This record gives sequence, C-alpha cells and structure tokens, in this order.
Amino acid sequence: MKPTPADKRIEDNMQPGSISAEGFLGQDTRSLADIIRADQMAVSKLGLSHQQIADRLRELTDLGKKGLGSPIEHEGLLIAVDDYRGMIPCPFQDRISHDKRLTTCTSQKDGLSIRWSDLNVHMIEAHGFYEGLGSPFRVDPQTIAELLFT
Ligand SMILES: [Zn+2]
Repeated sequence: MKPTPADKRIEDNMQPGSISAEGFLGQDTRSLADIIRADQMAVSKLGLSHQQIADRLRELTDLGKKGLGSPIEHEGLLIAVDDYRGMIPCPFQDRISHDKRLTTCTSQKDGLSIRWSDLNVHMIEAHGFYEGLGSPFRVDPQTIAELLFT
C-alpha cells in the first residue's frame, strides 16, 4: 500500500529530533506499517492482545506511583516510576499528549528489566505500536510476556 501524506507526516514525527531527541524508530529500516504488522503477529503468537498489554503496564505504573519516587516490590518485581518535566505528544497526530513519566520494572529473580513511558502505553493501546528495533524506548512484546505475564 502506498503511504498517504498523513502517513508521511507520522513517519516524519518519528524521526530523531522531531518530537523526541531519540526518535521512535531506532535503526529500524522497515516502514511503520511493517513494524506494526510484525509486532501484531508477535503479540498474537504470545497469546496476548495490545489491550491486555496496555492494561498490565498501566496497572504496574499505578502501583509504582505509590512509591512516590522510591521503587516498590510487587510479586517478585521491583517497580520504579520516575516523573520528568513536561508533556510529550503522540506522533500519530491524534492530539493526545502524555506526561513524561517512565516506569522501570525489574525481576528480582534474574534481573530482567523493561521500561516504558505513559506514551508507550497509549501507543500500544491505540496504535499497536511498540517502537522500532533499536529505539531506546522500544517495548519488546517478548520481554513483556516473559517478565509481566508469567
Ligand atoms: Zn496516539
């Protein structure tokens, strides 16, 4: 399918230095549609849905917020929530913005760790987008399944 001008604008928003310094695509050379399609397949294969993943991430962020800046322990996970100044808009041009909040979840058993922002949760829920390979904020579905759905 040929990208529309709107698709082009979204892909521009994803480049480093547009909305975020690092951008959203990392070293990924695939089109946005291909990235989303591949993650959709990965998520289905894991027996999960974007909604289930977004709900789980949001639940853990809400728990972690209770630590008021200090990590909390929950079911063998260490959850830390850090707030940063300002808001970040969704690159999909839907007029949604989120606080710059980062949740880091680490297994107390083996140290496996994953982090996500509030914007990641929105992009997973609304757009099925986990960011490109090599992006510093990519939320890998496989790691989510291993760490948060066992
Ligand atoms: Zn959005």
